[in-house]
Amino acid sequence: MAEEMASTYEPQKVEKRIYQYWLDEGVFTPQVEGAKDSFCIVIPPPNVTGVLHMGHALQDSIMDLLTRWHRMKGDESLWLPGTDHAGIATQNVVEAMLAEEGLAKHDLGREAFLERVWEVKDEHQSHIRAQLERLGASLDWSRERFTLDDDYTRAVREAFVRLYEDGLIYRGERMISWCPRCATSLSDLEVEHTETDGHLWYIRYPAADGGPGVVVATTRPETMLGDTAVAVHPEDERYTNLIGSNVILPLMEREIPVIGDDYIDVEFGTGALKVTPGHDPNDFEIAQRHGLSSVVVIGEDGKMTKEAGAYAGMERYAARKAVVADLDERGLLEGIEEYRHSVGHCSRCNTTVEPLVSTQWFVNMKSLAEMGLQAVRDGEVRFVPPRWTKVYCDWLENIRDWCISRQLWWGHQIPVWYCDDCGKQTCTREDPTQCSHCSSPNIKRDPDVLDTWFSSALWPFATLGWPDETPDLQHFYPTSVLVTAYDIIYFWVARMVMMGKYMRRERPFDTVFIHGLVRDERGRKISKSLGNNIDPIELIDNYGADAVRFALVQLITHGQDLTYSEERILAARNFGNKLWNASRFVIMNLDDGGADVDLGKAELRLADRWILSRHADMLEKVSKELGDNNLAQAADALYEHIWGEYCDWYLELCKPDLYGDTTVERKATVQTILREVLSGVLRALHPFMPFVTEEIWQRFAPGTGSIAVAAYPEADSAMLDAKAEAEMGVVQGVVSAVRNLRAVVSVPPSEKVKVTLQAPEGLPALLDAEQGGIKALAGIGDLAIEGEDVSAPENALGDVAEGVRAFLHIEGAIDVDGELERLGREIAKIEQLNEQCRRKLENADFVSRAPAHVVELERCRLEENTANLAKLQEQAELMRGLLR
Ligand SMILES: [Zn+2]
Ligand SMILES: [Zn+2]
Repeated sequence: MAEEMASTYEPQKVEKRIYQYWLDEGVFTPQVEGAKDSFCIVIPPPNVTGVLHMGHALQDSIMDLLTRWHRMKGDESLWLPGTDHAGIATQNVVEAMLAEEGLAKHDLGREAFLERVWEVKDEHQSHIRAQLERLGASLDWSRERFTLDDDYTRAVREAFVRLYEDGLIYRGERMISWCPRCATSLSDLEVEHTETDGHLWYIRYPAADGGPGVVVATTRPETMLGDTAVAVHPEDERYTNLIGSNVILPLMEREIPVIGDDYIDVEFGTGALKVTPGHDPNDFEIAQRHGLSSVVVIGEDGKMTKEAGAYAGMERYAARKAVVADLDERGLLEGIEEYRHSVGHCSRCNTTVEPLVSTQWFVNMKSLAEMGLQAVRDGEVRFVPPRWTKVYCDWLENIRDWCISRQLWWGHQIPVWYCDDCGKQTCTREDPTQCSHCSSPNIKRDPDVLDTWFSSALWPFATLGWPDETPDLQHFYPTSVLVTAYDIIYFWVARMVMMGKYMRRERPFDTVFIHGLVRDERGRKISKSLGNNIDPIELIDNYGADAVRFALVQLITHGQDLTYSEERILAARNFGNKLWNASRFVIMNLDDGGADVDLGKAELRLADRWILSRHADMLEKVSKELGDNNLAQAADALYEHIWGEYCDWYLELCKPDLYGDTTVERKATVQTILREVLSGVLRALHPFMPFVTEEIWQRFAPGTGSIAVAAYPEADSAMLDAKAEAEMGVVQGVVSAVRNLRAVVSVPPSEKVKVTLQAPEGLPALLDAEQGGIKALAGIGDLAIEGEDVSAPENALGDVAEGVRAFLHIEGAIDVDGELERLGREIAKIEQLNEQCRRKLENADFVSRAPAHVVELERCRLEENTANLAKLQEQAELMRGLLR
């Protein structure tokens, strides 16, 4: 017999030991050789300097659940861990550390700086691993990857060279987004657009011939120094006469043409647009159409260039002030308006992004996007829930070329060398020693690195050994599911699909499981600025990993955001405790070795047939919901069955057969059922609550190995029994009715009561057969069962359930007048509270000014009190019936 179970489950004492046991047993490492079906998830690699947040906890709970489920179903299952070097983010972290020492990265030089970053990376990587272990993640650590590992670097190199050779990567001068603080280009996705209060300045550009000219409106007056035209709509009658003439660009005193272009919005500002091809992507395109030159007046350091004339060297916002003041002095400032508009910010440091014309590396996205779209249209890759397909397709249909070079040191350096002699480029898989065009040894490597997302786009196959055809790659690619939040559908999903299709001619995964973001208890986004961070590790310390995981999975709502609730975690912890206590009871009662009865042949009673039917039904439902990716519904089915059926009813109903006067056969039958159902319950729940189920399993089935590799239970449909479920429904209804009646007159739980049941034809026999259970569960001492043609007994409270009338005999045992008085007082109190609530909610001032959640709280309070009131009034009605 296994060691005695403690009376309460303490996750803090259990979880670390169990995780180590799993590692020692090697249950997370699949055996590729000879394996048939496979299941694989690659973890979306967290930033190596990141910290596990609630979003990760949710995502990792989902991935672990799916992996454990498949592992138990017998699939060779791999959940592959790893981290991302996270270019800008990590470099910013290390630069901030250096700044505290009074150093900048240039003081160290590239090599020493990178050494420093590697040290920081090592510290953080082990931290992330420790956090995932706390959550119980069944990751195969022997296959852990990092996006800057040697093997991974080789994969990135191969992908770059292949795209380069195929003509899909090019270097060119384009408008890009630039972060002056990070001093690097950004991809469109790394720019966050936020509504910002600003101004609209109206500036007059006088005509070159001395006429009044034209007034333009701008939110960025400093960029006017780089204007090369003014554009108007060709059909805008206010300006048609000006098209083809010149105006004077104020402050720079340069003549620029007025041009006509369909792009111009006649409604915006004055309908005349200053064209600054050097600093606006739309203007850049107008300039391309009209052959206008572009002048860069703001440099990469955020200061004005020498092209800005008198303003050269000024910081961009200082230049804005100076330009406006000078225009005003010259009488050319026609007006200023308050104006709220969208401004791009660096997603890493929140600095206002500057659109710049710059020479960078780009991926031509046209054919790749087509591949990405095709994969989804053909159903090779499917989204769960499907509505996210449109988000994905919209983005790919409107995609622009992807700027992949970054002016950073931390990352994959671009594998292109420039020749000092012939000026041409050399791009090869091995580092070259000479120019591939003229053989000159005077070549220099491009100093830039690749966008982090370029390397992570290769993650589903580069982690499995690509470009080599390794057994892992053959066995696990395409992977099965990608689990991710909707906010990185572009960053991740789309780019992975494109790269997978291009490099491997095969989809990277067949299913994209999209989950929502975790919001705080008030429904707000969790953010640094709100200070409402919730630390999953702290929650695990307090409640155990199982509780955190189970609650998060229960909160999943089909790709929508979910609202965190500590109450749910508490409830999940109580659920784990309930299971622990029930298991302890069952294991103790199997102590005599427990007979093994063939349940197909044994004589089964109603409760036996009912619990076996409910168990089969639950297993069927859980498997179906898991197969449909409805994880919350599967969790709910387990919760209902374990707590609401097995613990609350069956364990209670079978007690007489375990303790009382019973036959050996009967006891053995009950023991067999208790054991079978507990075995099924533990295994079915394991992917959801891995720790507590393993800890129980080691006592329940000692010597059988880890539950993590036990078979996932399958429903035995022969056990489904609709008749038993209907009959048990009557028993449960009657018990609940009597319990309610007891509550109405506040009978203490220990006191046995006298009850009369009046049932329609057919039911008295059933009730009679089950009277032992009914009496025990409803605390009945004296039970009479009659037909329904008998009149109601005197001095009894009555209620109806499942067609059965239940009467609780009062026998003068309670003080009816006293009870009525007490109820009357309670009713008055609640009515008064409700009146206060109603007054508040009718007050328009309160409703519009109070925070939404406070108003909501009042509404909930009113609703709940109203329900309570109805119950009390019903009780009073019953009591008054007794007096008549
Ligand atoms: Zn930045
Ligand atoms: Zn050359």
